[in-house]
Amino acid sequence: MKLTVIGCAGSFAGPDSPASCYLLEAPFEGRTYRLLVDLGSGAFGALQRHSTIRDIDAIALSHLHADHCFDMSGFYVVSRYHPDGAFAQIPVHAPEGAGDFLVSAYGLEERDGMREQFAFSPWADGGTVQLGPFTVTSVRVNHPVPAFAFRIATDTHSLAYSGDTGPTEALAALVEGVDVFLCEASFVESGSNPPDLHLTGAEAGTYATRGKVGRLLVTHIPSWTDRAEVESDVKSTWDGAFELVAAGSTYEL
Ligand SMILES: [Zn+2]
Ligand SMILES: [Zn+2]
Repeated sequence: MKLTVIGCAGSFAGPDSPASCYLLEAPFEGRTYRLLVDLGSGAFGALQRHSTIRDIDAIALSHLHADHCFDMSGFYVVSRYHPDGAFAQIPVHAPEGAGDFLVSAYGLEERDGMREQFAFSPWADGGTVQLGPFTVTSVRVNHPVPAFAFRIATDTHSLAYSGDTGPTEALAALVEGVDVFLCEASFVESGSNPPDLHLTGAEAGTYATRGKVGRLLVTHIPSWTDRAEVESDVKSTWDGAFELVAAGSTYEL
C-alpha cells in the first residue's frame, strides 16, 4: 500500500501543512482503491494535488475534532454539485453521530442531502470493517471526545494510526508488529501536559518499541512546537527507524 501525507499539522492547519489527512492506496480488483483517513482543516485543497476527488472510495474519520473532519464540508460541496454530476455515495466510517455533527458544522438542512453523498457508519470499539483491500480495525482511545485508532491491513502489509490520544493501553496491542506506525506526538516531555489528551514523542516511541513496529512515522506536531525537541523525545525511547512526517511525503509499504 502507499501512504501519502496530505496534512500532518497538529491541532490546526499550519504554515507548512494542513491539519490531519492521509491517503492510503492499494490495488483492488484491477484498479487502485483510495481510502482517506481524516480530513482536517485545510486538507481538502492539498488533497486535490494528489488525487481526483471523485476517485476517493471511502473515508475513515478518527474523531470529530475540527482538525480531523472539518474539510468534509468541502468534499460534500464537490461531491454534490460537481458540474459533471453528483458523485456516487461513499462510505464514511466515523464516531457515532458524525452525520448530525457534519450537517450542523456546515450549517446545512437535512434536505441539502449530505447523507445522500455520505453513508455514515459508526466505529465499534474492537470492530473490523472491510474497505476494498483494507481491513480496518478500530479501537477506542483516550481523548476528550469519542476517538479511535486504526490498524489498517492489506494481504501483505499493515499500518497503525493513533489518531489523537493520550496514553492508552489499547494502543499497545493495536500496533503490534505493524510495518508502519503513524503516531501522534503533540506534546513534548518538557511541557506541562494536560492528561488524557495527546502523546509526547517519548510515549510514541515507547509504544513503537513495545509493539516492535517496523518503522515509526511521527505526526500531528503543532506548528508552535520545536520539532528538534520532538525528535529527541522519540530517540529517548525508540532506537528504530523513524521520521517526523511532512505534508506531501509518500511512503510505500
Ligand atoms: Zn488533532
Ligand atoms: Zn483531537
